[in-house]
Amino acid sequence: MSGFNNFIKYTAVMLLCTIIVTSCNAQNKTNKKTTMDAIKKKNNPVYSTTDVSKVTLAEEEWKKILSPEVYEVARQKGTERPWSSKFESFKEVGTYYCAACGNALFKSNTKFESGCGWPSFYEPISKSAIIYTPDNTHGMQRTEVQCGRCKSHLGHVFEDGPKPTGLRYCINGVVLDFEKAQAAEKKYNEKND
Ligand SMILES: [Zn+2]
Repeated sequence: MSGFNNFIKYTAVMLLCTIIVTSCNAQNKTNKKTTMDAIKKKNNPVYSTTDVSKVTLAEEEWKKILSPEVYEVARQKGTERPWSSKFESFKEVGTYYCAACGNALFKSNTKFESGCGWPSFYEPISKSAIIYTPDNTHGMQRTEVQCGRCKSHLGHVFEDGPKPTGLRYCINGVVLDFEKAQAAEKKYNEKND
């Protein structure tokens, strides 16, 4: 009888160990992902290139999690100096995201050289990617474009762009993050898995 009890005890212990090991592995995977995201945007808990839920933060919170340069443009509606963004003449194939929240905004195949000094696109990645607001400041009638997820200021849209839309989204490069196209990304992931 005691042999049977021992067998039960042994089985129970083995089962428990399996559960612990399995949950540890799951935990490690979660940690790995969290760490990768954290490297990308440390100190920014709302940054995500996959979460589409709206972000509403108090301005003091934004100030804490964004760099001064991004904060100035994104939250104070500032404008970066023309010709100062590396994205102005950037030609890599991929996707541009909001630097404040990670929302996908533009694809590189809708980018064009407008000569205006700021990165320019003729079409956003989706209708919901952008919010449009009338802007009558500085004695001009313009349309401001904001991030559809976090309402950060991105730039303005003008009606002097190329076909097929005829629009020019004139965007501050400092509020853009860029990620190379999926093929390159996939190769990178396979190599590092
Ligand atoms: Zn955003």
